[in-house]
Amino acid sequence: MKVKTLICNCKNQDPFRLADMNSLPFDIESELDVAYAAVHPQLCGPGGKELLEDVLRSAEDDPDTFVVVCACDEPTQRKLFRKVVQNAEVDEKQLVPVDARNTTNDGILERIRERLHELANPKKRRH
Ligand code: SF4
Repeated sequence: MKVKTLICNCKNQDPFRLADMNSLPFDIESELDVAYAAVHPQLCGPGGKELLEDVLRSAEDDPDTFVVVCACDEPTQRKLFRKVVQNAEVDEKQLVPVDARNTTNDGILERIRERLHELANPKKRRH
């Protein structure tokens, strides 16, 4: 299983104020088994969607590669990124939304850890 992580800062909006977006990628790369972590200021903007599509496309022929997106809540991400997933021609399960709102770096790490645990234990995966 390979995991790439993108973090959205939602234009520095209030729900993301508790996290330190400068140190978060390093924290994720140090603490978790991921290929990399990178921050974008607005993943649902045109540039952010293009970036996400590029990263998802890199997983096109590898169903065991997942792109964790730390941003708004899961239903919103599914809605915002539906077309991006379609364009990248990946299984929608390869996009792994993590709600990064209203918590610290440690809280975000814990939420990612939970999702990685679910991915590594497919029987416990969400549907
Ligand atoms: S993807 Fe979600 S968290 Fe990121 S800018 Fe858009 S609404 Fe905000």
